[in-house]
Amino acid sequence: MDVDTEAFTVVNVKWSGKEYPIKAFHANTLLHFKNAVCEATGVLPERQKLLNLRLRGKAPADDTRMKEFNLQTNAKIMMMGSREEAVREMQEVPKDLPEVVNDLDIEEEVIAIEQRQEYLQKIEKRVKDYEIKMLNDMRPGKKLLVLDIDYTLFDHRSVAETGNELMRPFLHEFLTSAYEDYDIVIWSATSMKWIEEKMKLLGVSTHPNYKIAFYLDSLAMITIHTEKYGVIEVKPLGVVWGKYEHYTSKNTIMFDDLSRNFLMNPQNGLKIRPFRLAHFNRDTDKELQKLSHYLKDIAALDDLSSLNHGKWEKYKKPH
Ligand code: MG
Repeated sequence: MDVDTEAFTVVNVKWSGKEYPIKAFHANTLLHFKNAVCEATGVLPERQKLLNLRLRGKAPADDTRMKEFNLQTNAKIMMMGSREEAVREMQEVPKDLPEVVNDLDIEEEVIAIEQRQEYLQKIEKRVKDYEIKMLNDMRPGKKLLVLDIDYTLFDHRSVAETGNELMRPFLHEFLTSAYEDYDIVIWSATSMKWIEEKMKLLGVSTHPNYKIAFYLDSLAMITIHTEKYGVIEVKPLGVVWGKYEHYTSKNTIMFDDLSRNFLMNPQNGLKIRPFRLAHFNRDTDKELQKLSHYLKDIAALDDLSSLNHGKWEKYKKPH
């Protein structure tokens, strides 16, 4: 039978929340088709996982002719796969402070930064101008836990249909346990709208077992300049401490996967291992479970800032 080399069917490849119409030429091979998908999405053929494109129940070989699939016009093909730059980014060693915190050069820089007058003035300005919308009552007497979202509670890069698939394991258990001893605040370097939506999607804003005191967004951050990173935005806890005086350096701890975010208060920051590639790490990531034990162990201490949070896994509770 002659093959009409011009015949094609337009199908929609759904990837990363968007649909891409692609022409599937009947005479072409699957590899040709993948190349067309690559042109539209930037995902290389070898990284494309076309989930529901199967032939006799199996994943088809790249030399399969497209006509064999009998695709209907506007058929939806679900795709997983990352662009090269995203893959590279995940494989890269994070551009971040090294694990050893008492490296002299770094310590000197850190101290200099957190005491610089110009930055303290910016914090003052945030204390005055940044408006916090209280979601739930603060509970004086409790300590304060400040949490980042992306890669700390949630993998925001991977492809998924629901919040549950991207949520870091033990998230609700972790927040439930932490809430017993800490008021909880979420601080993300994005917009308030985005934070509200993410917290709703993850079921955090409506959970019956704990309450979030308030959210902080990128507008509460300040810009600083460092030798190491250039001009960056950081999350200075001084904004919270200035607004609410019962929270202090002694009773506050913040988790972030980027330690540069706590350059203005290095003694209060705990660098959490980033949660990435949610689909692969669902069953192995125990970070939040382990950290909830750490938070419990240190909850009764008078001064959290005297701890070395960089060594949290080795912490032994005094008897
Ligand atoms: Mg993050």
